[in-house]
Amino acid sequence: MSDAKAPAPTQGLTDSEIAPLQARYGRNEIVHDTRFRGLRILVRQFTSVLVVVLIVAMAAAFAMGEIVDAAAIGIVVVMNALLGFAQEWRTDNAIKSLRRMLSPTAHVIRGGQEKSIPATELVPGDLVLIEQGSRIPADMTLIEHAGLQVDESALSGESDHVDKTAGLGEPNLFMGTTVTTGRGKAIVTAIGALTKFGQIAGLTSTISERPTVLQIQMARLAMQIAILAVVIAGATVAIGYFTGRDLFVMVMTGLSLAVSLVPEGLPVVLTISLTLGATAMARQKALVRQLQAVETLGAATVICTDKTGTLTENRMTAVRIWTLGAEYQVTGTGSDPAGHITRNGRKCRAADDPELANLLETALLCNNARLEQAQNTWAMFGSPTEGALVTLAYKGWATLPTPERLVAENPFSSERKRMSMLVRTDDSFALHAKGAPEHILSVCNSAVIDQKTYPLDDELRSKIMASYHQMAENGLRVIGLAARAAQDGDTEERDMIFQGLVGLIDPPRPEVGAAIQACRAAGIQVIMITGDGPTTARAIAQQLGLPARIALTGAELEDMTDADLTEVLGRDVLFARTTPAHKLRIVTALQARGETVAMTGDGVNDAPALKRADIGIAMGQRGTDVARDSSDLVLLDDNFATIVGAIAQGRRQFENISKFARYLLSSNAGEAVALFGAILMGLPLIFLPSQILWINLVTDGISAVALGLEKAEPGQMQDPPRGRNATILGRTGLWMILLLGAYTGGASIWIFQSLLAEGEIIARTTTFTALVIFELAAVFAFRSFRVPCTSLGWLSNRYLFLAVLLGLGTQLAAIYWPPLQLLLRTQPIGWEHWQLVGLFTLPLIIVPELIKAILASRARSGKAAPAA
Ligand code: ATP
Repeated sequence: MSDAKAPAPTQGLTDSEIAPLQARYGRNEIVHDTRFRGLRILVRQFTSVLVVVLIVAMAAAFAMGEIVDAAAIGIVVVMNALLGFAQEWRTDNAIKSLRRMLSPTAHVIRGGQEKSIPATELVPGDLVLIEQGSRIPADMTLIEHAGLQVDESALSGESDHVDKTAGLGEPNLFMGTTVTTGRGKAIVTAIGALTKFGQIAGLTSTISERPTVLQIQMARLAMQIAILAVVIAGATVAIGYFTGRDLFVMVMTGLSLAVSLVPEGLPVVLTISLTLGATAMARQKALVRQLQAVETLGAATVICTDKTGTLTENRMTAVRIWTLGAEYQVTGTGSDPAGHITRNGRKCRAADDPELANLLETALLCNNARLEQAQNTWAMFGSPTEGALVTLAYKGWATLPTPERLVAENPFSSERKRMSMLVRTDDSFALHAKGAPEHILSVCNSAVIDQKTYPLDDELRSKIMASYHQMAENGLRVIGLAARAAQDGDTEERDMIFQGLVGLIDPPRPEVGAAIQACRAAGIQVIMITGDGPTTARAIAQQLGLPARIALTGAELEDMTDADLTEVLGRDVLFARTTPAHKLRIVTALQARGETVAMTGDGVNDAPALKRADIGIAMGQRGTDVARDSSDLVLLDDNFATIVGAIAQGRRQFENISKFARYLLSSNAGEAVALFGAILMGLPLIFLPSQILWINLVTDGISAVALGLEKAEPGQMQDPPRGRNATILGRTGLWMILLLGAYTGGASIWIFQSLLAEGEIIARTTTFTALVIFELAAVFAFRSFRVPCTSLGWLSNRYLFLAVLLGLGTQLAAIYWPPLQLLLRTQPIGWEHWQLVGLFTLPLIIVPELIKAILASRARSGKAAPAA
């Protein structure tokens, strides 16, 4: 415990002082060097294997005097770079704006008023309130403190917790460090680049841009395919050359093959899709700090959630008081002290009831919350539990007691589950304590009944516990209160006199019941892990429809072996009276069972569990900076229902990625089958490299992005979570790729061969057009792997519809617009050619629809599960 120091400037800066300081010192931020950002993004576009392959192709075509081909490839390279650039620029901006939403705030006192401001607006001289879990927003001198410890590892690299006492004008709190325990007030001495942190480091960003597992897998896949493509293409050229075929034709064939095999659009489409997913989640108040979270969320099998504030509203109101001599009811709601306390149906004032007066005094004095009246409303500053107790004290008081002074504080922590304050009135001292009833009883040795003090024997203890359980059974959060006379410096929590219990109501959030049912339907287990007592936890679980046959306390958990814990986690269980360390053990045990765990947390000590969980979820309102920094997802509204919404988004996202990956690869398969088939059959080159690039980047690229915007399929939240090792393509996907590839490739060869008599260019143009149309038609088959488009609605994804129209338009331009004709070596095709194309396109629409309709009707009649 540390002493709270002499009064310091309490009013803070005034508005007239702030403006000149802001003008002089600027904003409290460390500015990144963004001068070459554009150039850096542009250069990145030319570093992929694909571009290297294309540049080699361009050089080869150029060397052979095929200027038009070289130019066509060159244009594609530039277009690809520009497209990639535009997309990356947008992604960058989207991530930036998400990051801005996460930027920290600072609690300051300005002009005597406490307020929250963006940390970037701090100026030297500002009076800042700091508390457990907050990140120090600037360099500061501490002037008032209670048990303050700071983790300076961000600066020193060592994770020691440093005790902090008042600094003598010199800064002793540094930007970027975090408060592990205690509270304090400090004056800002330096901001932005002038801070110690600003001078030594490039600020760590709040959103990681680490690529996700999927992105890495995808990039690896693209790279492997690219290498394979180069090898196959090289071999084809070599074999062709040595068997006496024309070198130019063989080089072009090799290039076409290489280009056809590489899924050029895949990595870019994946990044766009993940970013769009993150933006959609942000709109639903779930901020993704790591793109990875978007894909992991969809696989979550267990959600471990706090109770207070996540499942409940965290709007506490005291409704009952119990002492060994009497019982009281309390009326009124919220922070408005307009209600009153009744005993046996009659209004009751502290002035007429000394025991009630003592209890209310502890409630008010052992407290860091404040009520303030502005016009006709009351505002509460501080934790809701404490605020409810201040409001309660106001309701019972005729006149407030003479000002008393806080001398020292043993702060509350989730581990201790109680707190105490040493208070001085005139020349006497008293130690007031409050906390979880059993944690208060453990430091009491007497109790007052009818103004007489009795030793706290077993009988009285069991009476108190019985009353505690009775309140808890009604879902009330119960706080025990105690006090004793003390001396200056006498802060040990011992020999306290028990005063009574207060029951607080904290209503469940109305939307949570439905969200829990949605989780059950989706095969996701929900486990409540709370610091509150087991009886209260159970009552709230029941009110929410959360099955919890077993309620284990933190102490019971500690006595369990890992094997027992693993076993019990498979049943309907909740955990109460836990500390943050228990959360870590629970996550670890769940992961050992093979679960994918989402875990919520708000306190500084929750950080290890949040990091350990597959998806760490921090609270945007209640949470500390430390918890937020350790999380993957931040809930802006602290609401459990938001997690479930985010999981639904995650599932949709994964499915959509799987859809466009299958789509793009099936298109590559079609091109490769056609090219190989044509070579084997001794036909001329079926597609030119530039035509294949056109298909992969222009027509398919646009429709793949649109496929990524597909809405959630009906029933998506009725399926069990996907397995941990589920691959993006899956077995069904591989079959789809092979079958579609075989069909579109085969059909292309047939068309090409049958039109060759009309001339190679006409045959090639028609086949090229056919493949584009095939892909545009086939995209509808990938919209869902089980629901036919007739049920989804053909136009329900209007982006896809527009993308298909756009693809069709660009293809018409490719064959009828002279500049593109020159570039892609096409000729206008006639009506009869279109008929041929149309004929081969029809099965691509009809067959998948038929298969899905049959599967769906079989699933409905219970004969088989629909294919996933
Ligand atoms: P959750 O983990 O679901 O958010 P919680 O907020 O109840 O639950 P803690 O903050 O660890 O968890 O609180 C545990 C217990 O400590 C509470 O049930 C209450 O009895 C007591 N308590 C909470 N806040 C205070 C406080 N400010 N002063 C004294 N006791 C408190």
